[in-house]
Amino acid sequence: MRRKIVAGNWKMNKDFDEAETLIDDVVKGLEEEEVDCDVVICPPFPYLELATDGAADSELFEVGAQNVSSFDSGAYTGEVSAAMLASLDVNFCIIGHSERRKYFNEDNATLAVKVEKVLANEIVPIYCVGETLEEREANRHFDVIRRQVEEGLFGLDAADFENVVIAYEPVWAIGTGKTATPEQAEEIHAFIRSLVKEKYGDDIANEIHILYGGSCNAKNASALFAQPDIDGGLIGGASLKAEDFVSICRQAK
Ligand code: PEP
Repeated sequence: MRRKIVAGNWKMNKDFDEAETLIDDVVKGLEEEEVDCDVVICPPFPYLELATDGAADSELFEVGAQNVSSFDSGAYTGEVSAAMLASLDVNFCIIGHSERRKYFNEDNATLAVKVEKVLANEIVPIYCVGETLEEREANRHFDVIRRQVEEGLFGLDAADFENVVIAYEPVWAIGTGKTATPEQAEEIHAFIRSLVKEKYGDDIANEIHILYGGSCNAKNASALFAQPDIDGGLIGGASLKAEDFVSICRQAK
């Protein structure tokens, strides 16, 4: 039985004081509620240490970054390496979010390198895949997702691959309030798991976590998480309000 994971992607939101308050409020909420999933908070880079300190004190959540450099170190102004993240006790990293693919032109080949870099530093990649509305309407969504999974992840050997988390995030559902129905999401999750099974076999396919992301909120989380191949959520907007985020965590059983 896979223990669910709920990860909050704050994106580029909150100032330092607001970040401190949100972490405190999430911790209070997690202390009060019965939560039976792994909780991950992914704040912007400048608040990572604040978050890892909070995680060490409370032991109620873990910390993820939202991006990582594809380079190891050196003259790459503005970049943050996987080793730097590891030195802050960051243990997850979102890779290939559709906003990175769209606004920063990150392609599957670059993302495959980023996945390797974080794994080499014992950080779990949360590798995002998902189709645009145009691709879904043209019935190309399965092909797009297959390519994203194969090109981004299938260069890994089995020992590395089993440490990967995949997030299915249909682009048309991100920040739009338009959620995939539980059935639509399940169809893609089952498809991704079948790809993993073909490549790495039953055991790894049964162990791998596939999260859903895209306007998941306190009202629709239970129905999504009840699907057999949905192992939790990657939560954007709703992770910015402690009450909503904690409620989603409580629904992940
Ligand atoms: C995300 O950006 O990862 C996301 C799922 O956003 P939202 O929940 O706001 O749709």
